[in-house]
Amino acid sequence: MDKNGVRVRFAPSPTGYLHIGGARTALYDWLLARKTGGRFILRIEDTDRNRFVPDAVEDIKSSLRWMGLTWDEGPDAGGAAGPYFQSERLAIYQKHAEELVQAGKAYYCFCTPERLEAIRKKQEAANQPSGYDRHCRELTVEEIEQHLAAGERYVIRFKVPLTGKTQVRDELRGEMVFDHETLDDFVILKSDGFPTYHLASVVDDHLMGISHVIRGEEWIISLPRHFLLYAALGWEPPAFVHLPIFLSPDGKGKLSKRHGATRVREFREKGYLPEALVNFLLLLGWHPASDQELFTLDEAVEAFSVERISTSPVSFSLDKLDWYNGIYIRRLSHEELAHRCL
Ligand code: GLU
Ligand code: ZN
Repeated sequence: MDKNGVRVRFAPSPTGYLHIGGARTALYDWLLARKTGGRFILRIEDTDRNRFVPDAVEDIKSSLRWMGLTWDEGPDAGGAAGPYFQSERLAIYQKHAEELVQAGKAYYCFCTPERLEAIRKKQEAANQPSGYDRHCRELTVEEIEQHLAAGERYVIRFKVPLTGKTQVRDELRGEMVFDHETLDDFVILKSDGFPTYHLASVVDDHLMGISHVIRGEEWIISLPRHFLLYAALGWEPPAFVHLPIFLSPDGKGKLSKRHGATRVREFREKGYLPEALVNFLLLLGWHPASDQELFTLDEAVEAFSVERISTSPVSFSLDKLDWYNGIYIRRLSHEELAHRCL
């Protein structure tokens, strides 16, 4: 596998149909890959079995194709870094989790859900920050043997250093420092043998040779955990770019279902053209050097650069989307318009 060039991944969880936030992430991933002659990888993060929506993968793929965002590796495309469904990579995550345990950087935790619930209640009552109390961090080899012999279920937790700090980096925001005291010993492998998002994401981004991780701002709080994992595994982290959140049209809060359509499929069903949605999403978090407002995908590839991605929240204005849609509809020939209406 060529690990030297730009490799970006879009890594949706199939817990629902493709959200427009995800569509924007995929668009920026795709643009960076096409701009640099790199590779765009689609990875399905299906490790949360409780929230799995069966036809979500189909929806994600068809929505991306509808927008014109084709992937070079992933489901249907194949590739040397596969499999691209995380549920088919469980042995890889288990191996790395065990290696961390062997190296003294992670440990087995046998706490029952009841015990965890009890400490959560206690912390809440005492107005303390919530988090695991590290009960199993110093179990002896004998104690661990006993728990295992008794057939108890366990998770694997990462051993966050008790003191000190971790410095992380985002390409747009620069360096940020997180105190270890604010982090608890998070789970990396669940009791059913599935990895948590943190472990799976770090292991795959490394093994798939990802050079740039582009994702929503809500993941910044996960960065210190990811950097700790990279360091513990002896790996170099990729470059991280976190995209600004969408505000509702009135600018008063985060965009949510209350404000209307939020899934790509809904916009498609309402009659929006992919050209309009793509153009709209392009300028919802990125701005060109000129005052150009209309971009085809090719023009967007030409103009795109990571440095021009914004860090402040952007308002999701349906009026603007309607305006784009009007322009692109008027540009269609009568034949083409008739064809698309059908
Ligand atoms: N599966 C995560 C999500 O859906 C991916 C986050 C990431 O890109 O690291 O949002
Ligand atoms: Zn425990």
